[in-house]
Amino acid sequence: MTVASTHVFHRQLQRKPPVAVSGQGVYLTDAQGKSYIDASGGAAVSCLGHGHPDVLAAMHAQIDKLAYAHTSFFTTEVAEVLADKLIANAPEGMSHVYFVSGGSEAVEAALKMARQYFVEIGQPQRSHFIARRQSYHGNTLGALAIGGNQWRREPFAPILIPVTHVSPCYPYREQQAGETPVQYGLRLAKELEDAILAKGADSVIAFVAETLGGATAGVLVPVPGYFKAVREVCDRYGVLLILDEVMCGMGRTGTLHACEQEGVSPDLLTVAKGLGGGYQPIGAVLAQKKIVDVMRAGSGFFHHGHTYLGHAIACAAALAVQQVFERDQLLGQVRERGDFLQRLMHESWDKHPHVGDIRGRGLFWGIELVQERASKKPFDPARNVHVRIKREAMARGLMVYPMGGTVDGRYGDHVLLAPPFISSEAELTMVVERLGSAMDAAIAAV
Ligand code: PMP
Repeated sequence: MTVASTHVFHRQLQRKPPVAVSGQGVYLTDAQGKSYIDASGGAAVSCLGHGHPDVLAAMHAQIDKLAYAHTSFFTTEVAEVLADKLIANAPEGMSHVYFVSGGSEAVEAALKMARQYFVEIGQPQRSHFIARRQSYHGNTLGALAIGGNQWRREPFAPILIPVTHVSPCYPYREQQAGETPVQYGLRLAKELEDAILAKGADSVIAFVAETLGGATAGVLVPVPGYFKAVREVCDRYGVLLILDEVMCGMGRTGTLHACEQEGVSPDLLTVAKGLGGGYQPIGAVLAQKKIVDVMRAGSGFFHHGHTYLGHAIACAAALAVQQVFERDQLLGQVRERGDFLQRLMHESWDKHPHVGDIRGRGLFWGIELVQERASKKPFDPARNVHVRIKREAMARGLMVYPMGGTVDGRYGDHVLLAPPFISSEAELTMVVERLGSAMDAAIAAV
């Protein structure tokens, strides 16, 4: 088979990536026979690693029975069982699951569900969303508008719906001197409240946030009490809270949903990535009963949909992922291995002149790189430190997920780690060794 086609539209148009041919456990192998430790799970997707026999068996069994039935005609047994399982383990008050094919679709569906809810309860004037800077919610136009990644938004800015962006919860850079973490969280909640009032409390549909920031900010961990205060502000003004756990959810931080650790239940919760573990494209919106009840009693119809909703093989893969989590008690393992990885990174890099911050939970970690530790000055974005790190890491047989600094130099380069939950201590040790060497080589070259 040829691997030299010039016709595939890769994101990176000037350079063809290596050809992946097989995957087993935490490793991917390319067409040259070189293997890579998948320390980012792709983009925080491959929670069970590659080639997991239970997931493959479940998918094969489903293919033999039924691959696809359109949801305007049928539901499937496997979608029903998966929804029951997800709701059994969902945050308080959640009653329904709406299946989609990925993260951006989940965010789009959540935005539209929130809007339709207000139309149905007779508040059609609510038409505005509030979200955060340094966030990522997907690349479709609605999700891109909500997101606060300047670089991704910029070319499309004139065609995005207007959204108010408030500050992210970013203690390393934005917690003020003399402010405790709790005070910082309350200040951010007040900023949200001010934004709601500035827009007009009865014109806001929802506040949208990643429980832990991921793809733009290199993992942002909320300070204690932040989300509780945010929840209170939203409730005060009848604004819905949409938490996006496409990246940080599905066990990645050591609990199935990251918001469990915040003691908060959102109105709508988006999940994807680890839901299908990369074996199939699948995402979902988990919805509070009050939202579904209103829509059921009102128009009785959600004005939204896609062809592949609730795809049977995707649901079979996702159900198998959930069953493996439970049978192998993998979320406890995420917490344990996460502690191990955290210790190792601190031992290795606490004195590193260019590692400004190491932050995360479970097996979800961000490393923020700085030119100078004392002043936290980021590298010049034009040096593309993150791109160099990715290149050096790939040369060393390591996949990590790097992110660039903002053009205004306000935030710096990051590396994100999201290894499979099945990673051994030996494999995590190799990740830290290879990443340390890649970072040093990349930084030495700038
Ligand atoms: N939300 C978050 C928090 C994400 O991290 C991502 C993907 N990185 C998305 C939404 C979009 O998901 P997808 O790429 O599957 O469309």
